[in-house]
Amino acid sequence: MLQIYDLTYDELIDLLTKLGEPKFRAQQVWNWLYTKYVTEFAEMRNLPKALIEKLEETAVIHTATIASEQHSSDGQTKKVLFQLPDGQYIETVLMRYEKRRTLCISTQAGCAMGCVFCATGQMGFFRNLTVSEIVAQVLYFAHDLAQTDERVTNIVMMGMGEPLHNYNNTLTAVDRLTDENGFNLGARKITISTVGLVPAIRRYADEQRQTPLAISLHAATDAERDKLIPINSRWPIDDLIEACHYYIEKTGRRLTFEWALISGENDTIEQARALGNLLHGMLCHVNLIPLNPTAGYSGGPSSKERVDAFQAELANYGVSSTVRVRRGIDIQAGCGQLRDRVVGSR
Ligand code: SAH
Ligand code: SF4
Repeated sequence: MLQIYDLTYDELIDLLTKLGEPKFRAQQVWNWLYTKYVTEFAEMRNLPKALIEKLEETAVIHTATIASEQHSSDGQTKKVLFQLPDGQYIETVLMRYEKRRTLCISTQAGCAMGCVFCATGQMGFFRNLTVSEIVAQVLYFAHDLAQTDERVTNIVMMGMGEPLHNYNNTLTAVDRLTDENGFNLGARKITISTVGLVPAIRRYADEQRQTPLAISLHAATDAERDKLIPINSRWPIDDLIEACHYYIEKTGRRLTFEWALISGENDTIEQARALGNLLHGMLCHVNLIPLNPTAGYSGGPSSKERVDAFQAELANYGVSSTVRVRRGIDIQAGCGQLRDRVVGSR
């Protein structure tokens, strides 16, 4: 069945025309979907009953069901495990900060990149999400937040999957969510995180995308990065950094680098120096995140002393950084971790 969020506005007009409806119905349906976040066609109160029935026979709004829902002990983080019609599971996490309501969304079921420290990487790749499946995660939470007069203010593509490995659907979902006549979230409020798919980063730069980009670097030498991130052997650090410079040149935008600090692994002064040398003078910022331990990897988070020393060394190279603590650790809000607990590895 047709997934309604897959359609552009023009495609929705076409659909309604085929159903024998005038153009203005498209505007009404679009409003219900993207500004009222309705979950059923029957809630579209200004549509004739016959049209609602035709829509119900033709398309679906939400295809996922909720398999599990968890709240962190401080109530600020909520995580939902969705089950898709073919049995796949994906996760979406809402994090409340003071004024921000940030959603961490998935772009694939599983991930093909196999990063050793990552729960999603450990489960392997199942499939790409459709545009609708990506968009629906956001509209589900938008609907939820609207009940308390809150709204989604930021999105990070840091849930399950590698967004740039599902390039077209991910970026089409971004287009849908930033549509000024629809959900209307600012492009700069959506961060895309990538493990470093070099050709895709170059394409992203060429397309002059306004959505900020974060690069999951995690190591500054190939010897170290090869151990953590298998695709480093395909696109080694030099190629990746070259693509990063290309991106900054093309867009004039600052890049973010993600670095999960793993005790005794990539938290050494040597790594900090190598990173300082790589990024010195670059328009960028580093997020340092103590590792969130996962079942399939023996590494643990760095101590506060090591984190501080690492950050101080980076500062010596003029590289700015922020230490971030992963939110919702008590509900396994790290990438891929809820699915693991509920479904188990299979
Ligand atoms: N595939 C993309 C986006 C999803 S992962 C990417 O890799 O960037 C989102 C972020 O979580 C990445 O920076 C990833 O390296 C990080 N991450 C994954 N597992 C982690 C863990 N166990 N502890 C801390 N960060 C983790
Ligand atoms: Fe995939 Fe990102 Fe996890 Fe690596 S860190 S396995 S790219 S989701």
